[in-house]
Amino acid sequence: MKSFLEGVINRNKYMCELGKVADYIPGLSTANKNHLGICIIDTSGEIVIAGDADVKFTLQSISKPLTLMLALLDQGEKYVFSKVGMEPSGDAFNSIRKLETGRMRKPFNPMINAGAIEVCSMIKGKNSAEKFERVLNFIKLISGNNNLKVNEDIYKGEKETGNKNRSMAYFLKGEGLISGDVEDVLDVYFKQCSIEVTAIDLAKIGLFLARGGVLENGDRVVSEHIATIAKTLMTTCGMYDGSGEFAIKVGVPSKSGVGGGILSVVPGKMGIGVFGPSLDLKGNSIGGIAVLEEIAENFKFSIFN
Ligand code: GLN
Repeated sequence: MKSFLEGVINRNKYMCELGKVADYIPGLSTANKNHLGICIIDTSGEIVIAGDADVKFTLQSISKPLTLMLALLDQGEKYVFSKVGMEPSGDAFNSIRKLETGRMRKPFNPMINAGAIEVCSMIKGKNSAEKFERVLNFIKLISGNNNLKVNEDIYKGEKETGNKNRSMAYFLKGEGLISGDVEDVLDVYFKQCSIEVTAIDLAKIGLFLARGGVLENGDRVVSEHIATIAKTLMTTCGMYDGSGEFAIKVGVPSKSGVGGGILSVVPGKMGIGVFGPSLDLKGNSIGGIAVLEEIAENFKFSIFN
């Protein structure tokens, strides 16, 4: 398996040249475009890594399904989906236009920025620091990595440049969809995007979802239903406006982030973490998608088979 994965990385590395790293903040623009790595962990606990699997990067949008699970625990499904939809938007992750023109009058889903910011407003806690602390602790728990922390430089960049996110959040506040202080809600969002992980952490989180919300030690953290909601939204919306093509070519619940990570889940079988900061036009890891396509083809693991 290890030599197969190393071959996959080597065969797809050229793809990294075809994309470009996120450059909206300095902390992301200095990423090495040629990094490409993968970690797979199966339900027996066997870990296989290849390429740049131990390089740190920030979660960015991969945090979205994770915070969603915590919000579902905190507020319940009915409340959460009264304020955010379950439908693919077909637009870019940071698009604003359907907030006003869409028939729903709420963000289309929790995997786009507007929906994720809305979800951040639902996390319980007496102030924004406590809310974020609960998000971080939840992600530490499901990744089994107690050392996770915020990359302060990226956080600062997100906060300084996040005016589109800020405008969406104020719009949501104006619509009565966010209660409390908007900057506090945004702070939770910017911090969760800035949590540093490796492909190995992503594979562990993937395994947690593959096991339906259960840790490797058998402890249940979220109900099977909550894990299923996260996996379903990852399948329909996790790769933004590239989700349809990805579902055909790879076919497993996945979530990408502009830091270059992709979190993938083969339900009941394995968790996969991929890292490659060179992105395609939709903001998904270009090498990471190529790697997942080859693996999916080889193992025939599409959930639609
Ligand atoms: N921090 C990024 C943003 O809010 C996250 C987006 C992403 O990973 N697609 O724009």
